[in-house]
Amino acid sequence: MNTPSVIELSNESIQHNIHFLRKFIKKGTLISSVVKGNAYGHGIELYVPAAEEAGIIHFSVFSIDEAKRVCQVKSPETEVMIMGWIPCCEIDWVIANDISFWVFDFERLDCAITKAKELGKKALLHIELETGMNRTGFDLVFLRELIKVLNESKDHYVLKGLCTHFAGAESIANHVRVQRQFKIFKRLHKVFLENDLHPERLHAASSAATITYPNTQLDMVRIGILQYGYWPSSETFIHYISRRKRKTDPIKRIITWKSRVMVVKEVKQGSFVSYGTTYLATEDKRIAVIPTGYSHGYSRTLSNTGRVLINEQRIAVIGMVNMNMLIVDITYCTDIKQGDEVVLIGRQGELDISVSSFSELSDQLNYELLVRLPSSIERKLIQQ
Ligand SMILES: *Cc1c(COP(=O)(O)O)cnc(C)c1O
Repeated sequence: MNTPSVIELSNESIQHNIHFLRKFIKKGTLISSVVKGNAYGHGIELYVPAAEEAGIIHFSVFSIDEAKRVCQVKSPETEVMIMGWIPCCEIDWVIANDISFWVFDFERLDCAITKAKELGKKALLHIELETGMNRTGFDLVFLRELIKVLNESKDHYVLKGLCTHFAGAESIANHVRVQRQFKIFKRLHKVFLENDLHPERLHAASSAATITYPNTQLDMVRIGILQYGYWPSSETFIHYISRRKRKTDPIKRIITWKSRVMVVKEVKQGSFVSYGTTYLATEDKRIAVIPTGYSHGYSRTLSNTGRVLINEQRIAVIGMVNMNMLIVDITYCTDIKQGDEVVLIGRQGELDISVSSFSELSDQLNYELLVRLPSSIERKLIQQ
């Protein structure tokens, strides 16, 4: 282990989750595997080939730098779609490499058409429509103008998709809003067809909508969090499980985050441990120092509350989590010595520390904790 901690990805779990998704999602709907945020912290370079092994042939990223990383490791036929950031000066690279991309304003549309003309190659466009999220997407007031521009420049692009994004399908509180968005989206699709614009694929659903509103699966779904073995929210999980006979979680977590005991030492009764005075040793204590802290993604809010696994024992974090280290109380543990494996997230023997419980504890969503695992941590793909 060169880095103070290491992240292992279970290939078996990757295959299992994608297999589950394929069974759940209706036939004919393509799965786009969303690997933005360094594949939700899992690591693009390891995750992409493993997902391809499970049959994934389409990946979605946020930005051009992520697209470039996917291109380094993907198979030649696999498609890549950029949903967010592309500077206009780099659109020629995107077009030249057959990468499709979202267009949500006239600046990008003009830029794409101009560059496509120059290159003599068609741009692969997904037109994003504003349906109620109020983020990116063409506003309805520009619909006529949009259709006009698209109809005037048909030689320079392929209309790969028409898309939108729901504002919070993971919570029933947004039910009305999501339904309304879907209705608007379908209506706008009709307007496109009436104007002789025929998108190859309609896509709107992410993980939550795919589970909770299966009718929104359309031609393609953009699956992020679920493929990594986490539910978008407990509501989505309950929605799924309450409609099944088998009451077990159908997906498996992929990540195990491991470190090692760096130092073991004694602390006298009456001393404070770590910075400040948040932890007082009420008796003579034995502690272990782990070389992982908040700069490595171990949230400071886990100070005095987090748990780790060492030698198949669940052990409490004491004192403040530091930038590069955390301290655990091993007074009542047997046989813990320097170099022993520490599991920060994942399984050790029969015990398990999930990101879910971990992130409830630290008040972060699954998404945030995973994505914050720095890309500098060494990552390994293991078969089981
Ligand atoms: C991140 C993202 C997704 C995937 O969301 P999950 O909830 O992780 O499945 C889908 N579509 C867009 C536009 C996104 O930004």
